[in-house]
Amino acid sequence: MVRQIEIDINKIDFIDEHCEVNGHVDGIQNSPCEFKIWGWAINPYRKNSKSVKVLFFSENKELLASITPDSPSLDVAEHFNCDQLNECRWEAYVPKSSLPARDQTIFIYTYLIDSNKALIIKNQTSKVTLAMFRSNAYPILYIDIVSASGCNANCYWCPSGCNNKSKTLTFMNCKDFSEKINYMLDNGIINHNTNIELYDWSEPFLNKDFKKIVRFLNESGLRYGVSTNASIRMLFERSDKLDGLHQLIFSMPGFSQASYDRHHGFNFGEILTNIRAILENYRARGFNGRAAINYQVYQHSLEEYEAASNFASSLNIIINPYFASMVDYNVLEKYLDGKLETEILYRASKELFLYFLQDAIKKRNPCWKCPPLNNHITIDVRGMVVRCCITNSNCSDYYFKNILECSLEEIINFKRVANSDICKRCIQHNIDFIVNSEIHVSCHCLLRMLRSPPS
Ligand code: SF4
Ligand code: SF4
Repeated sequence: MVRQIEIDINKIDFIDEHCEVNGHVDGIQNSPCEFKIWGWAINPYRKNSKSVKVLFFSENKELLASITPDSPSLDVAEHFNCDQLNECRWEAYVPKSSLPARDQTIFIYTYLIDSNKALIIKNQTSKVTLAMFRSNAYPILYIDIVSASGCNANCYWCPSGCNNKSKTLTFMNCKDFSEKINYMLDNGIINHNTNIELYDWSEPFLNKDFKKIVRFLNESGLRYGVSTNASIRMLFERSDKLDGLHQLIFSMPGFSQASYDRHHGFNFGEILTNIRAILENYRARGFNGRAAINYQVYQHSLEEYEAASNFASSLNIIINPYFASMVDYNVLEKYLDGKLETEILYRASKELFLYFLQDAIKKRNPCWKCPPLNNHITIDVRGMVVRCCITNSNCSDYYFKNILECSLEEIINFKRVANSDICKRCIQHNIDFIVNSEIHVSCHCLLRMLRSPPS
């Protein structure tokens, strides 16, 4: 976090109680070297964000930092029905080396420059305790319990969908899985706040030990997440508990048999039945976390979105539309370099939305950082620490070493940009930003137009 303006603290009118909506802290994430706080802020009296800053104060009102909200916020503009609020998001990265030794609380305010007022952002996370950030463990672990290309769907733009027919699947059994998790806990690489995601471009329900793995995680009091194409109806017994399941994602390429024939290759009716059955079964066993449909918007599935959205509402789950994309690093790099083979480019022109990429890249905030570099640790089915979710074994610098031979410091070092050619290339091409940032706002614009076309 960098101080950006001179502010005379003695002249600020601090307002710690008010009823207007002036902002929100949407999240706080701890990672080995720094922590990140993000949210939005507006002037509640004028409904704009142009003359606003976000200020961070210590308990004794020492100004720690200031941030200017200037990132896209279409959702906030929609919520307040006010187009002026389309750039009021902010994001702050705080290096751990800058933390004071004494644990204290940080207070976050929306500062109205014109009137010299600081309005406290009232919500449960506006007061941040430094003690929360003493741990250096990774907040997110992606662990493949099925081998790379371990998916039974046929999605053309995903390396797993392209390669799964030519490879024999291998699985991580529960004994190996628990050994790796226990090692990471013992060595401070993860902790009990880490989200353990049981997939990385693979279908976790294909693993024969899936239920045993979930039982182990639940008994250990750990948080875990699943993303599935719902082709397998993985149900649990009455005695099982799923209260550690923090997230359950159903990935859908459209909402018709025609869309499923083009991509996943499954029976569409069966998928809907499976989703209903899985949700009912998991909720009955204590699942109380985030359930969502990740809806891939292809050209042909755009018009099916409304039906998918109604289906999600009927199940009381979220739907998250995003543009389907090239998710193989090498393919995306070739596309951005203008070197993609003609037949692949032709197919992309008929299936994908790519028009927004160049403009979105221009909006990259210089402070934005690649989440897999800073927050994620990714492990393949053999237990090898690998670069990240969008790279694969065809990329340089992909493998590090077996997790059972790694210390936290070695992993942090492996993930430094300076030590990786592929990360340097990736950032140069903005691939990290395309894949990991919220640039899919154009998708919401298209869907909005579909609902109410311009007259
Ligand atoms: S369902 Fe997901 S992991 Fe499987 S092939 Fe399709 S995009 Fe890849
Ligand atoms: S910079 Fe690119 S290659 Fe490196 S971790 Fe991030 S997404 Fe992966």
